[in-house]
Amino acid sequence: MASVTPLGGGCHVWRPAEAGWGMSNAGLVTGRGESLLVDTLFDLRLTRRMLDALAPLTASAPVTAVVNTHGNGDHWFGNQLLAHTEIIASRGSLADMRQVGPREMGLLMAPDTPSGRFARTIFGGFDFDGIEPAYPNRTFDGETVLDIGGTEVRLIDVGPAHTAGDTLVHVPHARTVYTGDIVFAGSAPVVWQGPIANWTAACDLLLGLDADTVVPGHGPVTTKAAVREIRDYLEYVHEQAAARFAAGMPAQDAALDIRLGRFASLGESERLAVNVHTVYRELDPALPALDGPELFGRMASLVCPHPG
Ligand SMILES: [Zn+2]
Repeated sequence: MASVTPLGGGCHVWRPAEAGWGMSNAGLVTGRGESLLVDTLFDLRLTRRMLDALAPLTASAPVTAVVNTHGNGDHWFGNQLLAHTEIIASRGSLADMRQVGPREMGLLMAPDTPSGRFARTIFGGFDFDGIEPAYPNRTFDGETVLDIGGTEVRLIDVGPAHTAGDTLVHVPHARTVYTGDIVFAGSAPVVWQGPIANWTAACDLLLGLDADTVVPGHGPVTTKAAVREIRDYLEYVHEQAAARFAAGMPAQDAALDIRLGRFASLGESERLAVNVHTVYRELDPALPALDGPELFGRMASLVCPHPG
């Protein structure tokens, strides 16, 4: 069962019933007479269900603003249902949204290829039909502060890291931070954009914040221990990939070769294929960026190392 949990100080989290690709968290910060929603979900049905679950809270404090932590669809495709509010994101996030919308998700899932089949396996439970992209109507760079019915909320863009723009949502008086996908709890992070050094710097910034409660983009509510775990994973993968790059091993061979050790039990470990390619591109800027089908194809071969 999906659930809404109070975190104190007017902060709440909505969590999905299941874990896995696209199963993201959403947050609600309530002030006097109004609320801020942190992220919408991957499709309209799921977002509607989440808004219904939050209705007892939003009846007296309606959602007047939404912040999308970043531009991956599982954090904004539901915006359409909140188009009457102020929708806020960093400029980098808006650029990502314009690049990959619901239509592109459909195209990724359509072909009868290892990549298409893998995308259908992980995203087939979502319904991307009929989603009209509702882009943010307010963007910011760096940092901005909101007043949500008397509650101070700080938005800090720490991207490019996971994506081109990654916003932390810090509620100082509640000592709570919604991290978007800068923190995955229980699953592997995926470095779509990088550089990895920006992401580890974001972890350091998070560790220095005045906050005890860490609400990740995916997985259960946690503490700064999960931030350290993400930083350790990123440093480990960077070091392992860089050693293989120096030895002349191709990126995909390196992804198959790397043993994740204590990180092997993290969910969606196939994201290693994307992460290794991102490290290789940092080390050799001449390497081309891979498109969605290529990246999902590489991950598919980690899930099933000998396709066809
Ligand atoms: Zn996500």
